[in-house]
Amino acid sequence: MAVSKMHPVAALEEAYAAGQRLFGENRVQEMQEKAPRLDALGDVAVHLIGPLQNNKTSRAAQLFSGVDTVDSPKTAARLDATAATLGRVLPILIEVKLSPEPEKHGIPPEQLGALLQAMAGMEHLRIEGLMTVAPLFAEGEAARPFFRQLRALRDQYRREIPSLRELSMGMSGDFRTAIEEGSTVVRIGTAIFGQRERL
Ligand SMILES: *Cc1c(COP(=O)(O)O)cnc(C)c1O
Repeated sequence: MAVSKMHPVAALEEAYAAGQRLFGENRVQEMQEKAPRLDALGDVAVHLIGPLQNNKTSRAAQLFSGVDTVDSPKTAARLDATAATLGRVLPILIEVKLSPEPEKHGIPPEQLGALLQAMAGMEHLRIEGLMTVAPLFAEGEAARPFFRQLRALRDQYRREIPSLRELSMGMSGDFRTAIEEGSTVVRIGTAIFGQRERL
């Protein structure tokens, strides 16, 4: 996944011309601005990889091909309801908080089972996997235990939920380690597009 947040649409179009089809954006508002030109490209998938505020849930379900940061039954229920009115099934990942940093988003691992249970009846969401962001202090090799833990959670819950395949983990600083630990989606921003500009 090419993480294109804070980069102009022209940068996405360039990546598209080079063959890139999956992008990550972290803000609903920014995606809304980029959407018309991205729609014109056609076969592009853009996932939301940033935190989702309650008042933006319906816009998110309309704009994004998938939401990778579901971390509460309430957000899941809102997305499910919007997807139902749109007549679509929305692919989602659950964001798991493995790091002690208070500013990190995601559901604590000990609440993951309950969240999955709460989502069992949500027919307009398809739970495709788990996502995590390794702690800032754990660059490269130091991120390994967090990636390993996410994979163990996926393997554990996949017995009940066979669609739980994806492991979205690894960024520019730690993607090699993430791939070694079984990542199926690395989210690369800086290493593809360079430093982000403040838009
Ligand atoms: C910005 C961002 C990335 C990309 O980070 P880089 O270090 O620039 O590769 C990946 N995942 C999430 C959730 C992000 O917000």
